[in-house]
Amino acid sequence: MPDDMDMVQGINEQFQAAALAEHQRNRPTGPAATHCDDCGEEIPIKRRLAMPGCRRCIECQSDFEEGVYGC
Ligand SMILES: [Zn+2]
Repeated sequence: MPDDMDMVQGINEQFQAAALAEHQRNRPTGPAATHCDDCGEEIPIKRRLAMPGCRRCIECQSDFEEGVYGC
């Protein structure tokens, strides 16, 4: 059933695009901070590259979000 598979794939891609857009609306925009807004610790470059718009270090972000996935 190649046609059905294509349709399912298309729906998945649409869903993922919508989810990604929703996620990006809820996250900070612009370049990531070099230092955490909360504690002032330097944010690792790998985190800044992976999380554009990031404003906090991992520890403060997880405290801030309390387990909610995101930047
Ligand atoms: Zn911090």
